Amino acid sequence: MKGILFVLSGPSGTGKGTVCDELIKRGCGVSLSVSMTTRECREGETPGVTYHYVTKDEFKRNIENGEMLEYAQYGENYYGTPRSSVEEKLSEGMDVLLEIEPQGALQVKRKFPEAVLVFLVPPSMSELKRRLITRGREGEDEIDKRIETARWELTQAEKYNVHIVNDTLDECVDRVIEYFDEKRAERKKIEELINEKV
Ligand code: 5GP
Repeated sequence: MKGILFVLSGPSGTGKGTVCDELIKRGCGVSLSVSMTTRECREGETPGVTYHYVTKDEFKRNIENGEMLEYAQYGENYYGTPRSSVEEKLSEGMDVLLEIEPQGALQVKRKFPEAVLVFLVPPSMSELKRRLITRGREGEDEIDKRIETARWELTQAEKYNVHIVNDTLDECVDRVIEYFDEKRAERKKIEELINEKV
């Protein structure tokens, strides 16, 4: 049986990265796809593990050669999912997780309607703003822009399979794992019905 392509997405500051780290720590049975990016490697990150770091020219070559499953420009940089490793794992029956921003998530939905898209929802817009301020990566103008983008991204939420609020990290991760298990059980049931001899 082919693996399931899970996508974890949502507005900047909702906690996608933290939820994803926790999912991997708990060993929830998914293989995390390593994205490609043109941004600089930050302290504490490992090339080939956190991201594949490439130049803009290399990234564009990958797009032209049809090697990206999805990609998006985010700020000054490009981010994208290399197609071959994801397709290989899925065909081996492994479930794959993409942690990506919403433009990319909707591309995946168009190309792979069978992918399962999880939209991580902030508990409130004021909490989202507080988280963006607390992580301290963006200035005030950029934070205001991200809040406006988040409002637009929320209008797209109905295109996702499920919405999960990231209020308390542990509860959110529990819910994501429970949802992954529900989807696995559904797929297994369908597969059994298809193969049932009558
Ligand atoms: P950061 O620079 O903080 O690691 O990531 C910035 C944003 O890029 C985050 O919202 C992250 O989810 C998103 N991102 C990381 N990898 C990918 C990818 O492969 N494709 C897309 N579309 N977004 C990505």
